[in-house]
Amino acid sequence: AHLVIGADGRRSLCRTAAGIETECRTYPQSALTFNLAHARPHGDTSTEFHTESGPFTLVPLPGQRSSLVFVVKPADAPRLSSLADAELAGEIERRSHSLLGKIEIESGRGVFPLAAEVARCLGRNRIVLIGEAAHVMPPIGAQGLNLGLRDAATIGELVVAARREGDDIGSDDLTGRYEHMRRADVTSRSLAVDLLNRSLLSDFLPLQGARGLGLYLLDRIGPLRRAAMREGVAPAASQPRLMRGEAL
Ligand SMILES: Cc1cc2nc3c(=O)[nH]c(=O)nc-3n(C[C@H](O)[C@H](O)[C@H](O)COP(=O)(O)OP(=O)(O)OC[C@H]3O[C@@H](n4cnc5c(N)ncnc54)[C@H](O)[C@@H]3O)c2cc1C
Repeated sequence: AHLVIGADGRRSLCRTAAGIETECRTYPQSALTFNLAHARPHGDTSTEFHTESGPFTLVPLPGQRSSLVFVVKPADAPRLSSLADAELAGEIERRSHSLLGKIEIESGRGVFPLAAEVARCLGRNRIVLIGEAAHVMPPIGAQGLNLGLRDAATIGELVVAARREGDDIGSDDLTGRYEHMRRADVTSRSLAVDLLNRSLLSDFLPLQGARGLGLYLLDRIGPLRRAAMREGVAPAASQPRLMRGEAL
């Protein structure tokens, strides 16, 4: 093939085939994930509670249903994940301060050890990596999917431009440009998510205070909150054309 785009997730065979190493960090945390139905509407709003074991995040699904990412200490994960539905529902209702009313747990529970992993190189030997093949981060701040979409839009833009010029779409020049265009976004998001996650686990009061102050200011100052939301979903500096709604 002229070019392979590795979108095969965190255990990427494409990454291995390209001979690309990763930098890996593990955290003393596990994420329990499952879907739930609830009595009160979520209002299409995602709610993230920051607890001393990590984030507890409710992501809205269609109807009165949500998906939960519940980050706990690894020692607590087996006990919580094996609770009967009614007991687990009570625990979730308590931890979510009954925000969504009465909870019913749906079938299908997952447990993931939390880790961060970033590929040392985003493209080589006619293979480029996108999404979790290139970067895995803890599920805090909802950054993973958007980062992957920006990867996909960027390589799409580069390939279309190269084809138009009659250039080789898998050349070292093209994979190098992909690396250049994506590296700052990937590195800055990984660092920000790592810092936010560590600030939850840390007992260091000044760090906890800084996080609390940051969240307080975001809550109180509308323009700051909107700017942070925009930057989280669609950063001005690394927005490829497809993500701006422009044709290639
Ligand atoms: C618990 C948890 C909660 C998260 N919450 C959020 C969130 O709220 N917001 C957010 O933005 N992100 C979140 N993320 C991150 C988000 O899920 C990922 O960023 C996203 O799924 C990555 O997409 P991907 O396509 O790169 O990888 P994946 O979703 O892993 O997809 C890879 C695909 O490749 C396939 N595949 C792998 N190997 C092969 C092969 N050899 N042949 C054929 N197919 C293959 C797999 O079957 C899979 O379908 C969360 C992640 C976790 C673990």
